[in-house]
Amino acid sequence: MDIPLAKPYTDEREIKAVSEVIRSGWFSQGEKVEEFEQMVADYIGVRHCIAVSSGTAALAVALKLVGVRYNDNVICPAFTCMANVNAIFAVGAVPVFVDVDPKTFNISSESVRQNIRFYDDAIMPIHQIGMSADIHAINEIANQHELEIVEDAACALGAKYKGKKVGYWGNPTCFSFHPRKVITTGEGGMIATDDNDYAMRARAIRSHGFSVSDIKRHKSRGTIIPSCNEIGFNYRMTDMQGAMGVEQMKKLPDILALRKKIACYYDERIKGIGGVESPYVPEECTHSYQSYLITLDKKTDRDKLLIEMSKAGISCRHGIKPLYMEPCLKYFEKPCPVAEDLYNRTMFLPIYPDMGEAELSYVMDTLEALV
Ligand SMILES: *Cc1c(COP(=O)(O)O)cnc(C)c1O
Repeated sequence: MDIPLAKPYTDEREIKAVSEVIRSGWFSQGEKVEEFEQMVADYIGVRHCIAVSSGTAALAVALKLVGVRYNDNVICPAFTCMANVNAIFAVGAVPVFVDVDPKTFNISSESVRQNIRFYDDAIMPIHQIGMSADIHAINEIANQHELEIVEDAACALGAKYKGKKVGYWGNPTCFSFHPRKVITTGEGGMIATDDNDYAMRARAIRSHGFSVSDIKRHKSRGTIIPSCNEIGFNYRMTDMQGAMGVEQMKKLPDILALRKKIACYYDERIKGIGGVESPYVPEECTHSYQSYLITLDKKTDRDKLLIEMSKAGISCRHGIKPLYMEPCLKYFEKPCPVAEDLYNRTMFLPIYPDMGEAELSYVMDTLEALV
């Protein structure tokens, strides 16, 4: 067997949709991107979605929207990927690391409360691995301390918190369409918001700050002169990606159901394996299962297990490395004991929608035999 960690869920429909865009002659951000944005907005239940070139780009734009700028401090959990800090640095701000909850892997409101300083400016909760952070608790802290919020839902398209989709709860929320996420456009990202002004600004910021989109200007046959009210980036999504996104959105309910089915199978099998814990899901959350992260007991040699799983043809990954352990961030050291412990004891298992029964039982049989 050769089982990858992740695999996108595509077929001839994506190929056809992308080919049609290429035949149309309009390649950059156009009508397909608009259609994709509307589909995601309707799905989440927000007024606006603004597509960009990556999840990281979405975060940088969203930080600008809420007013984060040079030298501002942005609180973010240490148990996450470089994308978060890269976006924070992209707008000239500085990350402040806080710890996560050992059960949910998400930002701990306790740790935020303990570490908050009067000069902090914003907070970036992350719906890590596809499960919503306790967004009501974070919203409350932010209200008390006058902090802005940008939500990172890179892995959490389709996940729910208190019955509503992630992205619904009032803060600019950022998604990613990298091939390892729930749906993919190759690369790509999106910002969801209910705020009309944020939406207008985000549309400008992603395209050099221009007040008018290329497609609108094109259709006006040169009669519109756009102006720039704000400094921007080129974070546009291509229409090839937009077309792929439209097809992926049609598959999203199936993708989520298939991921959930795999997670249920893993959960059930893991109950019978000592020393391994399946991911915890609080009652108010519905997981997207973008990834499946297990926690091992302290006796298990995780690194050895990873190597043995790999020898058996099963691609796993170690847990998320606390950001301040990266050489480029060593000056930001701020010990987060829970994140460090999780880094040493967690492991990602393969999960992708068309994983068959034979693969699933092979993964569990192998894990059971090795721990
Ligand atoms: C993948 C990911 C990102 C970055 O998304 P890109 O599209 O790769 O830029 C940001 N945050 C989290 C939590 C992610 O998992």
